[in-house]
Amino acid sequence: MAETEKMVFDGKLDINYKYASGKVTGKFYDEIEENKKIFGIKCSKCNTVYVPPRQTCGPCFTTMEEWVEVQPTGVVTNYTIVNYAEPLIQPMEPPYAQALIKLEGADTPFIHLIGEVDVEKVKIGMKVEAVFAEEKTGNILNIKYFKPVE
Ligand SMILES: [Zn+2]
Repeated sequence: MAETEKMVFDGKLDINYKYASGKVTGKFYDEIEENKKIFGIKCSKCNTVYVPPRQTCGPCFTTMEEWVEVQPTGVVTNYTIVNYAEPLIQPMEPPYAQALIKLEGADTPFIHLIGEVDVEKVKIGMKVEAVFAEEKTGNILNIKYFKPVE
């Protein structure tokens, strides 16, 4: 059998694009941006409240339409400490914590930043609350980050 020589080309693609959030994620972002309220969406079959909301409940395959306001407070269910800068994606200087946060009233956790804390003190079970951005961002960073609550 002939040995195949591998050909490797180093390169980089720089692609500008816009991503349409859709009506469900659009409402989620709008409520945060305009009213500083966080909404989930509830499955009429299994009663799961999804935050962030999605159109379809995966296990039930039902289209969800019932919006439910959840609390801006919740609990860290998992986290990681980020030690490198990604200034185009994340505004925080490393090291910072990114966590899965389950908000009160939601059944699913969503990912966000943890601020106003020494990253060494972030832990599973930590209670946190949303700090809303003062200026509109047009994206999930309308919640600037979550900070610990005593
Ligand atoms: Zn369901």
